[in-house]
Amino acid sequence: MDSTVLHRLALNESPYPPLPSVRKAMRRAVAQAHRYPQFYPDDLIERIAAWCRVGPDRVVVGSGSVGVALQLLQAVVEPGDSMAYAWRTFDAYPLLAAMVGAQPVPVPLSPDGRQDLGALLTALDHRTRVVVLCNPHNPTGSLVTAEDLSAFLRQVPRHVTVLLDEAYVEFARGTELPDTAALLDAHPHLLVLRTFSKAYGLAALRVGYGLGAPGLVARIRRHQLPFGINAVATAAVKASLRAGGELRRRVDTVVAERERLRHELVGQGWHIRPGHANSVWLAAPDPVDEGAAALTAAGVQARHYPGEGLRLTVGGREANDAVLTALAGVSRPQAPGRRP
Ligand code: PMP
Repeated sequence: MDSTVLHRLALNESPYPPLPSVRKAMRRAVAQAHRYPQFYPDDLIERIAAWCRVGPDRVVVGSGSVGVALQLLQAVVEPGDSMAYAWRTFDAYPLLAAMVGAQPVPVPLSPDGRQDLGALLTALDHRTRVVVLCNPHNPTGSLVTAEDLSAFLRQVPRHVTVLLDEAYVEFARGTELPDTAALLDAHPHLLVLRTFSKAYGLAALRVGYGLGAPGLVARIRRHQLPFGINAVATAAVKASLRAGGELRRRVDTVVAERERLRHELVGQGWHIRPGHANSVWLAAPDPVDEGAAALTAAGVQARHYPGEGLRLTVGGREANDAVLTALAGVSRPQAPGRRP
């Protein structure tokens, strides 16, 4: 097997390096690297809050969105409490549960790869402190519609905090998208999680943020590490917020490439549902293991869940073409529309 990696499509990263204006801001910050960053990242919080059009008391930042998720769990979970999430999902959730001593309650996805909201609600009991919804979902890219999300939030008991992970929200398109600002106003037990790692292409710098009611945000901020957000990352995020238009055009290109990939793969006979993240999800019973082997041989690193699925991050055009060429050679999936 050829193990040379030519295209990294395993971690849902952006295919684009930082914009020149962002690099310039980082270089300036590097020249000041002998100085500490702010004790708590108040300036960054103010910038993010203004950009999100909410008060700063509704924003918490952390070491990636995964860091914010950990801070939330530290704030609300006592050992022996439980945490529910649809499974499969982002690998960090069971790890974070273990870090705070929460009992993980994984709830299987429905057969069409959606988070099963009814089953999640049924799984909540007096010990549950947090339920995670990932929207768009990793790895399937499925979307919980505005209507379903509102109904879900109304039914979650008040002692349970809902962690709505919107790491990929910038890549979602369609008329059924939830209005997060309205949801935040209506649900004081909701924390919306966002990140600069995906659409903003700053994965290495580790900055994510959460939006929630002031009471919940204050509790989470008690777990903010002093000097915890580094100054180079802060400079990069501020510069990225100033370059919003350019970054949105990059996201549009990724979305267009996602749709091209899906269209071409469906043409090859793969059964692929519309997805809303920066990835495409191939699922068993299509020949995902053979697909994974073909990608590896072609130097494409994808995320392979043996016997279950294959998540392909949308890359640049060349990488996506390499995916299409590699998967075209895989022994025929059944023709579209003939799935058993
Ligand atoms: N949530 C989801 C659903 C993810 O897929 C990821 C990264 N793969 C994250 C959160 C974490 O992102 P970060 O910590 O870089 O913000």
